[in-house]
Amino acid sequence: MNNHKDIIIIGGGAAGFFAAINIAEQHPDLSVAILERGKEGLQKVKISGGGRCNVTHAEFIPSELVLNYPRGEKELLGPFHRFMTGDTIAWFEERGVELKIEEDGRMFPVSNSSQTIIDCFLNEAEKHRVEVLYNHAVKSIDTLTDGFKIETSQGVFQSKKVLMATGSNPKIWKLLEDLGHTIIQPVPSLFTFDIKDKRIKDIPGVVAKQVEVKVVGTDLESNGPLLITHVGMSAPAILKLSAFGAVELAKRNYNFQIEVNFISLDTESCLEELKNCKQEYAKKTLINSTQFDLPKRLWKQLILAANIRENERWADINKQQLEDLAEQLTKAIFQVTGKSTFKEEFVTAGGVDLKEVNFKTFESKLISNLYFAGEIINVDAVTGGFNFQNAWTGAYIASASIILD
Ligand SMILES: Cc1cc2nc3c(=O)[nH]c(=O)nc-3n(C[C@H](O)[C@H](O)[C@H](O)COP(=O)(O)OP(=O)(O)OC[C@H]3O[C@@H](n4cnc5c(N)ncnc54)[C@H](O)[C@@H]3O)c2cc1C
Repeated sequence: MNNHKDIIIIGGGAAGFFAAINIAEQHPDLSVAILERGKEGLQKVKISGGGRCNVTHAEFIPSELVLNYPRGEKELLGPFHRFMTGDTIAWFEERGVELKIEEDGRMFPVSNSSQTIIDCFLNEAEKHRVEVLYNHAVKSIDTLTDGFKIETSQGVFQSKKVLMATGSNPKIWKLLEDLGHTIIQPVPSLFTFDIKDKRIKDIPGVVAKQVEVKVVGTDLESNGPLLITHVGMSAPAILKLSAFGAVELAKRNYNFQIEVNFISLDTESCLEELKNCKQEYAKKTLINSTQFDLPKRLWKQLILAANIRENERWADINKQQLEDLAEQLTKAIFQVTGKSTFKEEFVTAGGVDLKEVNFKTFESKLISNLYFAGEIINVDAVTGGFNFQNAWTGAYIASASIILD
């Protein structure tokens, strides 16, 4: 085997395959190889989106799309003007993969199977003669006067240009540090909150549709649906906080308090409505007259937490109880004691410092002919298909730049 290639891509994941295919398709004369440490590639694509692969998100305005990136918001604006959601949809469609939009904007292959995406990548790579070398873990990278020397677990390779798409791999980040790059220390993002609390202990599976959540003592806040789980709380209201607060919450060792407004209404307005209920439903028990479109089981728990008994009627409760209930509904404090993995999607915040990447080309500002794409750089997003969109956009622009010069 000839170990001299025109272009070497390190990492056969989402970004690596996307870039390799684009380069090889545009430039059949170039030798393009992917060095992948695993015996198979695309393993994250496989398990992504609960096995369905949430490929992208139906948001078509770049300035709106970037708001989903706690790290990378400013830097991705330019790149998204060149390649974003619509381009992703077209790219896959042109290669026989149709995507569909779900109610919340997430986009999946119509097949509902991540294997469709994998098959597409493997077929395209083969068609355009991308050499995919599995079981080739990269151990070191040295710069030469005219390119790079790459040592792997199965021999040494040389190439003029290198695209690094190794995701969040600490060993590769260390290696890049040795080459002079700054690495922002990795911390997990997109996790759920562990909460042990009587109010939610017996009601896993309950969803409050429109909730506001704040981390006490910080500016961190979010809104959206909230799901009670067996170990705490999840769903977009929580996951967004975990992403935007990834660094802050790690500093607190995942021990902090949240204030939950279950009905997205201020406390005073809530109290007014409760007073109206007292008039209107005087003879009914509170437990049997759920308000604010809340799930019955959650309403019951909040009533009990406000020291109202199961058989108490609206007519019988006093001012203090009403105030306590309003407090439980709009300002309920919960102690978070740790985090758990959100199985559908998780990412790492951290990676190559954004200041050291040229976002017009995705080339390193420190080392010529070295490019980055995907999770290796300090970009990450909330859940919903945005993390893959970062991989596709970076890989597309890097591949376009690589073949230009
Ligand atoms: C369970 C789960 C579900 C997810 N679901 C979604 C989703 O539905 N939608 C979404 O947008 N995002 C999702 N994500 C996030 C998404 O998978 C990542 O953001 C995306 O895969 C990043 O692509 P990448 O190419 O940068 O890295 P990766 O896909 O991680 O690929 C990196 C590749 O590099 C290889 N590699 C690493 N080190 C070396 C080395 N030294 N030598 C050679 N090869 C190496 C790895 O083996 C891997 O194949 C999910 C993540 C997880 C964990």
